[in-house]
Amino acid sequence: MDVMFEICPLCHHAWSESDNDFCSCLRKGRINDMDLVYAHESLVNVARKLMDKGFQVHSCKIEKAPGYSRPAVKIYFREYYDAGFPVGNMPPDWHLESRILSGDDSRRYSVLVDYLQFYDDDEELEHELALTISNLETWVDGLDKEGIRAMLILAGKSVAPGKRRGPKRRQPL
Ligand SMILES: [Zn+2]
Repeated sequence: MDVMFEICPLCHHAWSESDNDFCSCLRKGRINDMDLVYAHESLVNVARKLMDKGFQVHSCKIEKAPGYSRPAVKIYFREYYDAGFPVGNMPPDWHLESRILSGDDSRRYSVLVDYLQFYDDDEELEHELALTISNLETWVDGLDKEGIRAMLILAGKSVAPGKRRGPKRRQPL
């Protein structure tokens, strides 16, 4: 069973959905419930690292389509990043897609995606997932925080944590 976590974009505290272990930012109203980042347990660290570099993370998911053995790891952002996203150095197989919210053509959002290879059994899938996520973490670790933040600000993107610009949390993209 996949466990999903909520992460505070201000203090980066994470708790599982069933925990009800909110951080003080939420309790004191410094952020809104809608600002929380929603992440698969194995993607909590990736989410934190991306936020640290200045990216506005919405949710981090492992999507497994029933009856179709090619799952995907998807990082949904609250911003549209085609300009200023360091795609050139991304780990193999990762690419950036864009989403437009239905009913709001004026706003696009970026999604960082890796479609996994076809696999035969769960053990193989778990191995593939671990490798994919580890490659992503290594890539994010190597990004120059100040450089990325400066580039994002120049491109007109928000780098402030918890500044809600994107779709509401959990609203299907
Ligand atoms: Zn917090």
